[in-house]
Amino acid sequence: MPLTPAQFPALIAAISATISQHADSITELDQAIGDGDHVFNLQRGIDALQSHCAEIAALDWPAAWQKIGMTVMAAIGGASGSLYATLFIGLHKNTKDKPADLRTFAEALPLAVEAVKQRGKADVGEKTLLDVWVPVAKTLRRSVAEGKDLNAILDAVCAEAEAGVESTRDMLATKGRASFLGERSKGHIDAGAKTAQLMIAAIARQIRS
Ligand code: ADP
Ligand code: MG
Ligand code: MG
Repeated sequence: MPLTPAQFPALIAAISATISQHADSITELDQAIGDGDHVFNLQRGIDALQSHCAEIAALDWPAAWQKIGMTVMAAIGGASGSLYATLFIGLHKNTKDKPADLRTFAEALPLAVEAVKQRGKADVGEKTLLDVWVPVAKTLRRSVAEGKDLNAILDAVCAEAEAGVESTRDMLATKGRASFLGERSKGHIDAGAKTAQLMIAAIARQIRS
């Protein structure tokens, strides 16, 4: 596994930095078609994870995913809280008792994303964070199965995440708060898709360096 929970403090710091750096533009997006609290929600989750950093860093991945999921669930109120908690609990369930390697993670991620779909009763094409996570999970699993080297895998995943964000621009929102706007939801990218892409890019930079 290119990353262990011992690197979790650095990872969460990188995620925190990228969200802070883009806070204004993300808030604008969530104000345009949502209620403007997406950055606040994520920052609450990040703060809670930072306060459990040392504990998480001492765990193995399956136990760390469980702790991360439970922490996020308790800390975040918005839709994104229960969806990310579901993602992390899904990673816990699907990495438990398996070898701690990239292949296990690459096979677990699509299953965890599937659980998020069920939780939010949503799928790709509905202008949500799933428009990033679904193609990213597929691309990760495929690139790992093809035996690509780590940097090529990261390049493919990051490109897919960016394409996913852009794909939300002209979509009609049919789930979450943006769906209340109907046709007026078109023309803006989705805040949750954007933060998913930023977090994925931050993790990729961390793995590379
Ligand atoms: P809230 O909408 O409760 O204020 P946030 O602002 O934190 O929560 O998160 C909003 C983001 O959550 C949206 O931009 C979208 O990406 C995602 N989202 C909302 N509803 C769903 C859903 N049913 N399935 C998947 N993602 C969703
Ligand atoms: Mg919101
Ligand atoms: Mg809200």
